[in-house]
Amino acid sequence: MPETHVNTFGGSPLNRLSWLRPSQSFMNAIVHVPNSRWLLFNAGQTLMISSDDRSVKPALAYLSTRDVKPFLGPEPYFGQGKEPGELVVEKDGESHAHPQHSPTEAARHHGIPIVFLGLHEKESGDNSVALPSSEFTNPDEAIKKLQGTPYFAVEVADLEHTQDDLEKLLSETGPSKEGKKLSWVEPRTLMMGFDGFPAAVFASARSMVDWNQRNKFCPGCGSPTYSMWGGWKVACKTLLPWTDNGNKKPCPTTKGLHNFTHPRTDGVVIMIAIDETGEKVLLGRGRRFPGKFYSALAGFIEPGESFEDAVVREMWEEAGVHVWNIKYHSGQPWPYPANLMVGFYARADSTKPIRTDLDNELVDARWFTREEILAVINHVGGTRFRHADLKKIAEDIDGRSNTGETKAQTDPTSKALTPAESKGSAPQQERRKSVADEPPFRLPGTGAIAGVLVRDWAEGRISFPPEDLKAGPIHKGNL
Ligand SMILES: [Zn+2]
Repeated sequence: MPETHVNTFGGSPLNRLSWLRPSQSFMNAIVHVPNSRWLLFNAGQTLMISSDDRSVKPALAYLSTRDVKPFLGPEPYFGQGKEPGELVVEKDGESHAHPQHSPTEAARHHGIPIVFLGLHEKESGDNSVALPSSEFTNPDEAIKKLQGTPYFAVEVADLEHTQDDLEKLLSETGPSKEGKKLSWVEPRTLMMGFDGFPAAVFASARSMVDWNQRNKFCPGCGSPTYSMWGGWKVACKTLLPWTDNGNKKPCPTTKGLHNFTHPRTDGVVIMIAIDETGEKVLLGRGRRFPGKFYSALAGFIEPGESFEDAVVREMWEEAGVHVWNIKYHSGQPWPYPANLMVGFYARADSTKPIRTDLDNELVDARWFTREEILAVINHVGGTRFRHADLKKIAEDIDGRSNTGETKAQTDPTSKALTPAESKGSAPQQERRKSVADEPPFRLPGTGAIAGVLVRDWAEGRISFPPEDLKAGPIHKGNL
């Protein structure tokens, strides 16, 4: 196994400058850096540059601060007071993070939340521009020396704009004026050739705008919330000095430390069991997986569980299989809406029966040999989606958003099969020899960690030491 495997959506190169988020002077300055780039979302759909030519991959649309100004409401954008246009003046020593947070730090009360994603310091083509962190202790000085490209994200669904207003505003942006076609795209239904830098920036943007959308009311007292710290904190309106709370019982967030509004990352274990010979793997087919699609088993980590506990429980609940000797592979942010996939291998006994009737999440689970897996990986249609599959995924997204059931990971780096390829008649690369028109089953591609886990095992890039074979299951009595 490589030392560190960076999965698609991970490895963001942005310097998040998280300790400067509470500084409204820094935030108000960085938002006006001329080369700033903004990602826009509309009810979770992403603004993309597309083309009528299907061979051209859609790309994220980056807008400038000038382009997005009509969406942002009145200035100042951060550190807003009660009235539009009013700036809350920071007192000395309160300009950046300190132990007792003020309820007005880089707060927004007028307009949609703005998420500051971070600074891409390498954008200038010279790696040496990254400032040492000491340069950022004083926000006012930092902004003068700052080099690179700041990235922001906003969700426009709550604006009081009609669809026509939105279209008109978009038609006046830089990309539109250059003749590029802008459209809102549901990212899960489009195989975007998404990888590397744009995928990593997109992942944090998508999760953060979603989190802001879902936290409009205080979980402590039910009052409305407002956005702070460049979109990374929401606070209860009853905390504001100008709010008249009358006889209302004080919100629990007025006392002590509360982090229930911390941006969410929900842990999901995703794992493949390897049998006692090391030559077979256990994969499952979810109830809603498209086509003949088999994948790694997965499930949300529950409170009170370690990663290993969750792997053991999920393998038992979904496939009736006991696993031991659990080994970490890598993690993958999965921004639908805010999961962190934590990938593992585990050992299991393939001679024991499989049962999928415990939690009924899978329609099938079975052991595959290395040869069976390699044949599918090397088949032209083995790890790619057909348009009908994408349609099914789209219907799934429309019909049910968050049921707690983990869904098939679509591969953001993959493109859909063209009709010619679906028939198996496309010219194929030398190593991708088709064994038949249709592969016997299909597997996720390597843009999804499930596909990485399968491929790294099948191609011999991971190894379980032989002594593991004798280890056997850990019994609770050993604790
Ligand atoms: Zn509250």
